[in-house]
Amino acid sequence: MKKNWNFETKCVQEGYEAEVGQPRILPINQTVGYKFEKAEDVSELFDLKRSGHMYSRISNPTVEALEKKYTTLEYGVESVATSSGHSAILLAILNICKAGDHILSSSNIYGGTHNLFEVTLKKYNIEVSFFDPNSDEETIIKSAKENTKVLFGETIGNPSLNVLDFDKFKSISDKLDIPFIVDNTVASPYNCNPVKYGANVVIHSTTKYSEGHATSVGGIIIDCGNFNWDNGKFDELVEPDLSYHGIRYWNTFKERAYITKLRVQLLRDFGCCMSPFNAFLTNLGLETLHLRMERHNENALKLAKWLSKHEKVAWVNYPGLQTDTYHELSKKYLPYGASGVLTFGIKGGYDEAKRFIEKLRLANLVITLGDVRTYVLHPSSTTHKQLSEEEQIECGVSKELIRVSVGIENCDDIIKDFRQGLEG
Ligand SMILES: *Cc1c(COP(=O)(O)O)cnc(C)c1O
Repeated sequence: MKKNWNFETKCVQEGYEAEVGQPRILPINQTVGYKFEKAEDVSELFDLKRSGHMYSRISNPTVEALEKKYTTLEYGVESVATSSGHSAILLAILNICKAGDHILSSSNIYGGTHNLFEVTLKKYNIEVSFFDPNSDEETIIKSAKENTKVLFGETIGNPSLNVLDFDKFKSISDKLDIPFIVDNTVASPYNCNPVKYGANVVIHSTTKYSEGHATSVGGIIIDCGNFNWDNGKFDELVEPDLSYHGIRYWNTFKERAYITKLRVQLLRDFGCCMSPFNAFLTNLGLETLHLRMERHNENALKLAKWLSKHEKVAWVNYPGLQTDTYHELSKKYLPYGASGVLTFGIKGGYDEAKRFIEKLRLANLVITLGDVRTYVLHPSSTTHKQLSEEEQIECGVSKELIRVSVGIENCDDIIKDFRQGLEG
């Protein structure tokens, strides 16, 4: 691929290059298998001595084009696309954690990830300690253990909208000598590239801003290639893998060790691959990511300012607002904008929140975010319902909180809708 393109050009051009006479648009390679001439060619693929497609659970040309584009958007070394954002998180963790290991995670994270960590991983004897991301470094380090293998956080916490203090997290992961994994879904690579601030692995639910039109569930894991796995903590990356004739990932693939192991071991065994059709749609979405994010940033800031002046609104959280607790961090790590998600508390609490949502016409009650359309959501009764009241508060969810995913419509129309919802 071409080098040194600007972000916008990469969104449009990276990942797929047509030869003369071939389709100019990324084709949907709706195929399971690939043709070979000789048995040796296949056996070399099986032994990882050669790269190439063998079976679409492990790789596929359409999915690969998306992965290549994403690798350049996040300045990584290689990526693996998955069937959902959740499977991306699961594989990213299981690639380096096994029964008996421990994870250190910010508590202000997506409710689904909180559940995965707190309930499901526990059943497989992987333990997670959650910490308040606003605590100081020493306090956070105190909750680490001998067997801690990962430090996890979200660039913009969903839905608490705290901005990750990357310098602090980087310093903690350096001191503990463990990889720093960042879920960058809500910020999108347009607003933030976590690798620039020390992340080692970046994850996206491509379901959200990446695909951008809410047509396809998907995820991606980007290996930044900047962690030394040979530090005595990650045997499986250094010691021979018996399922590949004793291959040693770190020895053979160096900065690609983590992502190679993830693909050939975990994607092979768990099978949560992205379909070629979803990769096609996600790539199509990415072609306009830069334009969409510009408008999402702009509309969200306008709506946040308007809401914060409204008498029926108790408070507004949006890191782009000058008065926001996270504004300084937002300026530092999200220089282009604070993305399209904001939350606010409506005066009158739970019942008034419900009434307001039912009254909206343009904005719909939909359980996703990062789509071109404006959506509203009441997390306490939906996405975070499975959590206890204390856990909800830990995740930054209060009863009166309404989450808005601000779309790319004309902002005057969005504001008009919110006005009639609040005042009607
Ligand atoms: C939606 C979301 C996920 C989960 O992604 P799916 O594609 O729905 O599996 C993970 N993290 C964040 C921050 C999200 O918003």
